[in-house]
Amino acid sequence: MRVFENISQLVTLESAHQKDGRKLVPEDLSIIENAALVFDDTQIIWLGKTEALPTQYAALPRHDLSGHTITPGIVDSHTHIVFGGNRAREYAARLNGADYEAIAKMGGGILFTMKHTKESSRKDLFDASVEKIERFHQLGINTIEIKSGYALTYDKELELSQIIYDLKEHFRGRVKIFNTYLAAHAVPKEYKTSAAFMNEVVLPLLENLAPQKIIDAVDIFQEEGYFSADDVQRLFIRSKELGIATKIHADEFNDNNGAGMAVDFSSLSADHLMKCSDENIHKLSNSSTVATLLPGTSLFLGKPLAPARKFLDAGCKVALASDYNPGSCHIDNLLLIASMAGPLYKLNQAELWGGITLNAAHALGFYKDGCIKEGFSSNVSIFKANTIDEITYAWGQNLAVPMENILAEEKP
Ligand SMILES: [Zn+2]
Repeated sequence: MRVFENISQLVTLESAHQKDGRKLVPEDLSIIENAALVFDDTQIIWLGKTEALPTQYAALPRHDLSGHTITPGIVDSHTHIVFGGNRAREYAARLNGADYEAIAKMGGGILFTMKHTKESSRKDLFDASVEKIERFHQLGINTIEIKSGYALTYDKELELSQIIYDLKEHFRGRVKIFNTYLAAHAVPKEYKTSAAFMNEVVLPLLENLAPQKIIDAVDIFQEEGYFSADDVQRLFIRSKELGIATKIHADEFNDNNGAGMAVDFSSLSADHLMKCSDENIHKLSNSSTVATLLPGTSLFLGKPLAPARKFLDAGCKVALASDYNPGSCHIDNLLLIASMAGPLYKLNQAELWGGITLNAAHALGFYKDGCIKEGFSSNVSIFKANTIDEITYAWGQNLAVPMENILAEEKP
């Protein structure tokens, strides 16, 4: 147990939590100024004004956090970190006018990433991912969801899920990792139909992984030319039977009723949602399924944004995530994405911060994260800033201070 005292702003999101992350107003940040926080490795023991710190905690190791702001741990709830290769050439070619076909011709696109992922060894993929996760963590991100899905063969997809599990073990205690199985990411061209790929790879591998307790959720890319509503139903029914949570890449290019199915199956989240129908926005607002928006992808590709205000005003739980991946969003800095999303989506400060803490934690089923409250998780993010306003105002600047840097000053 230890004490942080004189914290300039402790942003608890207590009121946002009481409102289940919906229809947030700026006051829902529930800020305590000049605060103290008593916590151990897993949970919050006490919080309040520094001058009200109960004497029973006075003898604990104490750290002066004046000039610092503390928020619930930042969560990136949608990433594709484990991949081989580098698509900078393709990104530049697109800016230089190459269209989708020209990029496919030069060997770009997801096929490029699949080729390079398959050619990379387990160790190389693990090492490259460790480096990326360290960078996320230095930016104040303490919880990361990672999806498999760039191999699309039985054996290599099994290996990708194992790598993500190895990463989870490697970072335990520093970064919380959530392992999502996304073999249903694209249909390799050697399969005639998505159903055939489901039968031969996606479902059998799920049967293998589920009893090993390696994966935390399944995901599927539902879209014309990818996976159908029927594939989604089959995957979700089987996942439910196996006790595995579900997520979906939904309604990104077309309205496919992906969000509607997510609600029907009580999925943790429906992600992208650029083309989600008004009817399904309403349906989401009456459910616990989090609407996860990925503004970085729109910016990276120069495409229109999701109608964020519609989801927020309807009373949906809205999360913001990076969608970090080699092709459509190579931005690993969720705070930068949130800074940009503020004015683009017209978010107030509680909607913005709730989107990368409370609601993002709920998108992974972490219901004791995302709010600083007695008995809740001690997973917090720390910034060298006098107020929360300074953090996203400093677009692209890194003000985060990892917890271990502060604890390193503690005498053994
Ligand atoms: Zn994605």
